[in-house]
Amino acid sequence: MNSRNWRGSEACRTEDPELFFPKGTDAASMDGADAAVRICRRCPAMEACAEWAIDTRQDHGVWGGLTEQDRAALRRHGRIPQKRTPIQAFASIQDAYGALAQKDGRHVIWTGGNEVRIGSVRMTPNQVAWRARRRTPPVGRVFTDCDRDGCVRHLNDQAMRQARDAARTTTAERSAAQRRTA
Ligand code: SF4
Repeated sequence: MNSRNWRGSEACRTEDPELFFPKGTDAASMDGADAAVRICRRCPAMEACAEWAIDTRQDHGVWGGLTEQDRAALRRHGRIPQKRTPIQAFASIQDAYGALAQKDGRHVIWTGGNEVRIGSVRMTPNQVAWRARRRTPPVGRVFTDCDRDGCVRHLNDQAMRQARDAARTTTAERSAAQRRTA
C-alpha cells in the first residue's frame, strides 16, 4: 500500500485498496474501515505506518490501524500513538474496567494502554467499557462519540450506527415527501 522503508512487509499489499479509503461515513464505509483496521493489526509495519501517517499529515484513509477520525482526534489532542507497552492482563472484564476506568464528571476516562488481555482474549478500551457497562457484546467495532480524550463512556457499535443511518434516511424521506405535497 505504501513505499516507506517497511516495503515488503505490509499486510495490505494484497487487499482491496477501497477498504483503506472509505468514501463516506455510512455503515458500509465504516464496516470497510473496520476491516482495514483489522488487517493493519496483523501487519508488522503497523507502528511505523501509523507514525508515518501522522508525521506526514495523511488526511485520508486507514494507515497503521488508525482511521481518519482516529488521527484527527490524536492531532486535536496533541497526542501521538503510544508505543506498544506490555499488555495488562485481568481475570475479567469487570476487573479491567474497575482498575482502569475512572469517572470524571459525565465522562469515564480510560487510564490504561491501547489493549488489555482478559484471559486469552485481547480487547480495546472501548470493547471493555462497552461490555462492562452493557453486559452484552457489541455488534462490530466500537467507536466513541465523545470529543473528550480517553473517554470510554459515549460509545456506539455497528447496530447503533445502522439505526442512526436508518433514522436519518427516514427523516430525509419524510421531509422530501412533505416538500412534494406542500
Ligand atoms: S499498517 Fe495497515 S496501512 Fe500500514 S502498511 Fe500495514 S496494512 Fe498497510
